[in-house]
Amino acid sequence: SMKNSGGGDYCVYDPKMAVQARDEAVLVNELRQAAQAGQFELYFQPKIDAQSLEVTAAEALLRWHHPTRGFVSPTIFIPLAEKYGLMGTIGPWVIEEASRTAGVWLKSGLRMRVAVNISGYQMRQDDLVESIQAVLERHGVQPQRFTCEITETVAMEDTQATKLTFEKMRRAGFHVSIDDFGTGYSSLGSLRKLPAAELKIDRAFVSDLEESEEARSIAKSIIDMARALNLKVIAEGVETVGQSDILVEMGCDEMQGFLFSMPITAGELQNLAMLRHSDDGGNFRNSLFAT
Ligand code: C2E
Ligand code: MG
Ligand code: MG
Ligand code: MG
Repeated sequence: SMKNSGGGDYCVYDPKMAVQARDEAVLVNELRQAAQAGQFELYFQPKIDAQSLEVTAAEALLRWHHPTRGFVSPTIFIPLAEKYGLMGTIGPWVIEEASRTAGVWLKSGLRMRVAVNISGYQMRQDDLVESIQAVLERHGVQPQRFTCEITETVAMEDTQATKLTFEKMRRAGFHVSIDDFGTGYSSLGSLRKLPAAELKIDRAFVSDLEESEEARSIAKSIIDMARALNLKVIAEGVETVGQSDILVEMGCDEMQGFLFSMPITAGELQNLAMLRHSDDGGNFRNSLFAT
C-alpha cells in the first residue's frame, strides 16, 4: 500500500496492472452508485504562497471510500469515469461539494480560493459554466474564488466545444489553472489565447529538480514563459526543502505538495489555514520543522 498518496491506503488496484475487462465492468458499476451511496469525499490540499507561506487556495481531490476495496485512487477511477460517461454525475457532485465547502470557509472568515479539477468530458459540456455559476451563487461564493484546473492536454484539444467553454469561463471571471504543465506541447501563441491565470508545473519536473539539469531548465522555461504571459506559476508535488529552495530561487509564485501538507479534510484545512493567517510569528516552514 502507498501511505503517501494522501487520504489513506490505496490497496487494491495497482495502476501498472492491467485491469481485467470483467473487473473493470464491476468497478464501473460500483462507481455508478458511489455518489448516491455516500462513498465520495473531497480532500483538500493547500496551495502556498512562496513568499508569505500563507494558504492562497485549496485543491479539491476526490476520494472514493469503497465499502470492501478500501480507497480506490482517482488515477484509476477518474479515467474509468471518463471512458464510461460517468463524469456527468461525478463532475457536478465535486462542484457542488467544493462550492459548499468554500461557502463554509468564507463564513468562517477564510478568504482562500477553491480549485476543482475539470475533466475533458466536462469541458465539452455546453452548460458547464452556467451550472457552476448557479452552484456558486447558491453558496454565496464569488466566481473569482473558483479555480478550474484543466490539464494542458485537455486545454490544447482546441475543439469548438472547449473553445466555447474557455470563452465562457473568461466572461464568468473564473480563475483558470493549466494543470500538469510541461507534459503537453503548448506554445506561447496557443497559451496566449487561453483565459488562464496560472500554470502549474507538473510533478515529474519538480521531483527531478535536485538531480536533473534538464528538469531544472524545463521548470525555468515554464516560469519564464509564465512571466512573459503575465501568469502566476505554481509547482505541484513539492516534497523537499531542496526542491522548494530551487523553485523560489527561480521565481515560482506558489507551491503545493507533501512538504507543506498532504490532502486533508475540509475541517483540517480550515484549522491549518486559520493558523497560517493568524500569524503568531511563526511560518509554515517553522511550524513544520519545529519538532
Ligand atoms: P492532479 O490534479 O495533478 O493532483 C495532484 C495529485 O498529486 C493528487 O493525487 C495529490 O494527492 C498528489 N500529490 C500532491 N502533492 C504531492 C507530493 O508532494 N508528492 C506526490 N507524490 N504526490 C502529490 P490524487 O489525489 O491521487 O489525484 C490524482 C489525479 O486524479 C489528479 O491529479 C487529477 O488529475 C485526478 N482527480 C482527482 N480528483 C479529481 C476530480 O474531482 N475531478 C477530476 N476530473 N479529476 C480528479
Ligand atoms: Mg489538479
Ligand atoms: Mg496537477
Ligand atoms: Mg499531476
